[in-house]
Amino acid sequence: MQRREFLKLSMIGGLAASLPLIGCSSLSTKASHKQGSLAKVVVVGGGYAGATCAKYLSTWSKGEIDVTVIEPNANFISCPLSNLVLSGSKRIQDLTFSYRGLQKNYPIHWVRDHVEAIDPIKRTVSTPHAKFSYDRLVLAPGIKFDYSAIAGMQAHDIAQRIPHAWKAGEQTELLHRQLVAMPQGGVFVMSIPKAPYRCPPGPYERVCQVAFLFKQYNPTAKIIVLDANPDIVSKKGLFTKVWQEHYAGMIDYRPNSAVQQVDSQSLMVNTEFESVRADVLNIIPPQQAGQLAKMAGLLGAKQAWVDVDFLSYASKAHESIHVIGDAVSSALPKSAHMATSQAKVCAAAIVDIVRGNSPDPQPVFANTCYSFVDNEMAMHVANVYRYDAVKHIMLPAEGGGVSSLKIGR
Ligand SMILES: Cc1cc2nc3c(=O)[nH]c(=O)nc-3n(C[C@H](O)[C@H](O)[C@H](O)COP(=O)(O)OP(=O)(O)OC[C@H]3O[C@@H](n4cnc5c(N)ncnc54)[C@H](O)[C@@H]3O)c2cc1C
Repeated sequence: MQRREFLKLSMIGGLAASLPLIGCSSLSTKASHKQGSLAKVVVVGGGYAGATCAKYLSTWSKGEIDVTVIEPNANFISCPLSNLVLSGSKRIQDLTFSYRGLQKNYPIHWVRDHVEAIDPIKRTVSTPHAKFSYDRLVLAPGIKFDYSAIAGMQAHDIAQRIPHAWKAGEQTELLHRQLVAMPQGGVFVMSIPKAPYRCPPGPYERVCQVAFLFKQYNPTAKIIVLDANPDIVSKKGLFTKVWQEHYAGMIDYRPNSAVQQVDSQSLMVNTEFESVRADVLNIIPPQQAGQLAKMAGLLGAKQAWVDVDFLSYASKAHESIHVIGDAVSSALPKSAHMATSQAKVCAAAIVDIVRGNSPDPQPVFANTCYSFVDNEMAMHVANVYRYDAVKHIMLPAEGGGVSSLKIGR
């Protein structure tokens, strides 16, 4: 054997031997299911993260894993592109997809139900109609809104008068109707919560879409943006440029403006510094991991997002419960592309664990996010992320970038 080849093999051996030290120290690779029986994996939530994870668990395990998905909705409505519903460029039907393709093409059990209890010790998940046992549980619950810091917001205000439109569906259609019916020269006020929140560039894309609508049908209308953050969180140069060049004089952006109180009758909004009256009001509330995370005991008293091991997405609180998508605590953007990237790493890791192997010690994935300026022009940001074995987190790697500032058709 050549010396170089010997060294290469020793390094691979050394690396494999040290694997448990590389971030997955808490992760048991012992098969958790009974010998001779199929490992049972239950995935809760059929959004971008959950549906993707179920598909790849079923494909990559080649029949070695019994996969069940529990999701209450018959159809999936995509948040990506839902800002275009506000401008009238898309309809909610264009963003509504049935699960039939997944159900037909992959051997996955689909249960249309709502999980109401999780017992991490007995490893069971309950809906009002049935109880499911699991060897590994994947939670992909998305986000929960937290209105506790905004005085005056009642559930019926949110449902009927002050939509968030931050989960696509009826709320998006309601906000579109309100914008279309707004008086000529009226004021649209929208608020952005402190990061981290779902889809960093999403609120600024929303500003573009509403401005696009007003430019056509209500050119003297104004948009006031109350941003709790000190500055535009994502694609700042691009958004600033298109606001100036395409929607000059329409957008009044106010940083460091967290909403503290709302009067739902007068649509008066108070921040620490000022009061603003709206004709149409869109409060995007602060966010935290979906309710399932708390239900499973994965969050401390003041914790908003779930801590995971980035090699497998096993939660730090319960090793047999994996969490993916927006609910994860990380410096990664909470996007659909990111949710599907995490879902694939998680699925591959579970297949490895079930087979008694260690997960990939150096996952790499990408995130690309497009923001629409009007009905046909979009700008994008793309990044590659690589696992850092010292810090035990995903860090931006070389490559990626944003659209050129020379925006044109
Ligand atoms: C306006 C807007 C625009 C966006 N644009 C983009 C974009 O252009 N590109 C991009 O990449 N991302 C975009 N995003 C972000 C993207 O929508 C989210 O990051 C993505 O949906 C996260 O996926 P998820 O699977 O974590 O959560 P979700 O997609 O919300 O899925 C969660 C699922 O869990 C289910 N669930 C919850 N509780 C239970 C329970 N108790 N029992 C059973 N099931 C349950 C829900 O029904 C849901 O199906 C946008 C978001 C918004 C709001």
